[in-house]
Amino acid sequence: MPIPLAQAGLAALFAVAAPVASNPLLAPWTGPYGGAPPFDKVQVEGFKPALEAGMAEQLAAIDEITGEKAPPTFANTIAALERSDRGLERVQSLYGVWRTSMNTPPFQEVEREMAPRLAAFRDQVTQNATLFKRIAAVYAGRESADLSPEQKRLAWLYYTTFARTGAKLDPAGKKRLSEINQRLATLYTTFAQNVLADETDHVLFLEDEKDLAGLPDTLRSAAAAGAESRGKKGRWVILNTRSSMEPFLTYSDRRDLRERVWRTYYSRGDNGDAKDNNKTITEILGLRAERAKLLGFETHAHWSLEDTMAKTPERAMVLMEAVWTPAVARVREEVAEMQAIADGEGAAIQVAPWDYRYYAEKVRKAKYDLDENEVKPYLQLDRLRDGMFWVAGKVFGLHFSPVQGVPVYHPDVVVYEVKDAAGRHVGLWYFDPWARPGKRSGAWMNAYRDQERFDGEVPTIVSNNSNFVRGAAAAPVLASWDDATTMFHEFGHALHGLSSGVAYPSLSGTSVARDYVEFPSQILERWLATPDVLSRFALHYRTGQPMPAALAQKIERASTFRQGFDTVEYLASALVDMKLHLAGARPIDPDAFERETLAALGMPSEVVMRHRTPQFTHVFSSDDYAAGYYSYLWSDVLAADAWEAFTEAGGPWDEAVAKRLRESVFSVGNTIDPADGYRAFRDRDARIDALMRKRGFPVPAPPKTD
Ligand SMILES: [Zn+2]
Repeated sequence: MPIPLAQAGLAALFAVAAPVASNPLLAPWTGPYGGAPPFDKVQVEGFKPALEAGMAEQLAAIDEITGEKAPPTFANTIAALERSDRGLERVQSLYGVWRTSMNTPPFQEVEREMAPRLAAFRDQVTQNATLFKRIAAVYAGRESADLSPEQKRLAWLYYTTFARTGAKLDPAGKKRLSEINQRLATLYTTFAQNVLADETDHVLFLEDEKDLAGLPDTLRSAAAAGAESRGKKGRWVILNTRSSMEPFLTYSDRRDLRERVWRTYYSRGDNGDAKDNNKTITEILGLRAERAKLLGFETHAHWSLEDTMAKTPERAMVLMEAVWTPAVARVREEVAEMQAIADGEGAAIQVAPWDYRYYAEKVRKAKYDLDENEVKPYLQLDRLRDGMFWVAGKVFGLHFSPVQGVPVYHPDVVVYEVKDAAGRHVGLWYFDPWARPGKRSGAWMNAYRDQERFDGEVPTIVSNNSNFVRGAAAAPVLASWDDATTMFHEFGHALHGLSSGVAYPSLSGTSVARDYVEFPSQILERWLATPDVLSRFALHYRTGQPMPAALAQKIERASTFRQGFDTVEYLASALVDMKLHLAGARPIDPDAFERETLAALGMPSEVVMRHRTPQFTHVFSSDDYAAGYYSYLWSDVLAADAWEAFTEAGGPWDEAVAKRLRESVFSVGNTIDPADGYRAFRDRDARIDALMRKRGFPVPAPPKTD
């Protein structure tokens, strides 16, 4: 997506390196499917010259646009900009994969050097006064220029993006802004690399079988395999990632080890050593506050929310506060239930944060007769993937089949071709489910190439990534219910990309407002729990038998289980994020700020923020989710409300509702205002009620009217 905001790349400082075509990272992608990324040709030392050549290439293209004698038009300015960074887009796509999934020390060196240079390049494009004048002229004349609605929207997007990122500043302001952005790029890289280092380096090796007390067999064999792959055969390793920490805290009977794993995980970036992130955070927040003022906004939060659906921090806060109070009340109930179990067992403890998952699991068994270990044997990774494909076929008319011979960056990765109901090629889907050193933790979707058609059809290429831990060789990998939900979530992002049917890449697929982009992914989660999916794809890994209906019903009945914990750990992070970015220019000590903010909110002592400030990569490894972590809740209001459109109609497979969802949400990208898209789908705005029902919280009374 060629919008210069986040993706474009450097400067006239560089003489053009090698001719473009000879650099394999920059060259057009070849082969079937409209070409595929040349992962087999990537060498880390190739990134720097390829990025430099890509930036030089775009600058030359921009020179042609600004040197144009004819008056500015959509075609000679906006469409030309959409074409201006093809090469840079290609190399950045590969670069992005190495950042997230192949992050080795030699690559980190390249990243440290190139991050500020890419930031400087983006500013150089945005601050090009001649270019901005042309964009502004096209934008001002958009109504009389016989443009399509999508073209008008694109002109608006370019104009507002340039304006809000500094195009209107005077020369001194532009200079300072660019200094700030370059420094921030370096700090973001430092922050992310520090968190990754603490995740990689602070793993826990267990020596003695006694240390595994309570762990189910699947976890034991994964821990043993992990230790062996790290050269410690005969021991067990607990990785310092969410997908290792959570099951350990859920099952380990060893309270001392639970506390140790918990402390290690929640201390990432906060150990007072060379990888400590606190000073970095202070500097990031200071620079963001200064930048917001420079751009004419009260705080970074105000600047950041201007182009979202929420529009203002105040509106986001109103939503968060409406959910916070019932969520905290629910935590108190959950803790009381857990304490009763602990007391009944004679544990003689006060439930602490490292006990929450462990005793919650016991409550689940006692109250809902539901044992996570009873569910897990039915959740085979491969069958879940087939289930996702099945949903894609039924609801989105998309069909997946494996393909061979497409280059991959690691043998773990598998590639599928996606076709529509008429059998036309739609795109490629790459799947990289496995944890590896150098791969960031968590799960995410990524687009290697956006769908577009203004210069001929270009099919999209998307990927889903997660961190499953392999068990013993040939043993099927089993997912937890949460992991299965996350798989469907990320697949929702992939379907959003694959369903895209727009003309211009900057408006394509998932390039939508940040607090809207989680709506397609969160609604996808809902199909996992449908009886049709469970009965077909939740098959026991030994017997092949489908999950019994009684078990599926128990899962359904327990769907609001532990919602106090889940909502509070999330919202505490979202509220701290927002308040950090509303605090203005005063210097912030992250540790004290976090402590005081949580105290003022009445944070229950048994819960910790899902992402504590020193490890909050959403917020501090780029601008993307800064003052934006609330977006998941905002989007979930939409997803919950949209799901009720299905249940109010014929159920999860209602064809008319699915058609509206595709036509008004999944396929339109950012070609329309998201609020309008939602209204076209639902015939009204979203209401909070469905979200509260979904989480099992009281639905607020409607406002009184006279
Ligand atoms: Zn998501």
